[in-house]
Amino acid sequence: MHRKLVVGNWKMNGSIAQLGELPAIAEAAREAAGVDVAICPPFTLIAPAVTRGGGLPIGGQDCHAADSGAHTGCISAAMLKEAGARLVIIGHSERRAEQQESDAAVRAKAAAALSEGLQTIVCVGESEAEREAGRAVAVVTAQLAGSLPDPEAEAELVIAYEPIWAIGTGKVATPDDVAEMHAAIRAHLVDTFGDQGARLRILYGGSVKADNAAELFAVRDVDGALVGGASLTAAQFVPIIEAAG
Ligand code: PGA
Repeated sequence: MHRKLVVGNWKMNGSIAQLGELPAIAEAAREAAGVDVAICPPFTLIAPAVTRGGGLPIGGQDCHAADSGAHTGCISAAMLKEAGARLVIIGHSERRAEQQESDAAVRAKAAAALSEGLQTIVCVGESEAEREAGRAVAVVTAQLAGSLPDPEAEAELVIAYEPIWAIGTGKVATPDDVAEMHAAIRAHLVDTFGDQGARLRILYGGSVKADNAAELFAVRDVDGALVGGASLTAAQFVPIIEAAG
């Protein structure tokens, strides 16, 4: 059994005013003693979220693979760290699609984040067409093989399985589909990394809400959740934290 990890991904949402949600989330996180909780707001809100977040771990949603240099518009893992971030999401399907991030790019970013000491959540997941073609496990396994850095690092590597068709759609994978995929991910991790692979946490993401969280958390090898829309308010996010406890 792994300790559950529930991470909110605010994507390109939020504002200084929205940080007012964080103290109640931090309070729920303190009460759910067996659960780790974090929020990843946009870059500009990281430092203020650290100040106003009531001790909640705060993270970024991407970083560059390089430490510094001529990369206009980018942020390095060291910069996230200096802003107070403790974790980072890498290779989200929206970035893989909108910024054309390849598996190799994701692996390089994740390696940079781990070496900076950031807990690093690498996202994988198949499209609807890939699932309908019966290729979901093969696609995700290939993404893992291409995207995961060596987990033997100071910081924790976490995998998030997020079927693309379930993100922001209200469609959630069935517990059976989630169980099959998480088992396949676990098998890949153990094959690749041995005992270390058995220790890594595997999150599910894609339309996780208060009313489906408990069922998802009960699935074997679901070690937590990456939550988008339902992480924006304490009213929606706190019940998910409680369901993990
Ligand atoms: P969602 O997003 O919970 O809004 O579906 C999940 C994610 O993309 O991380």
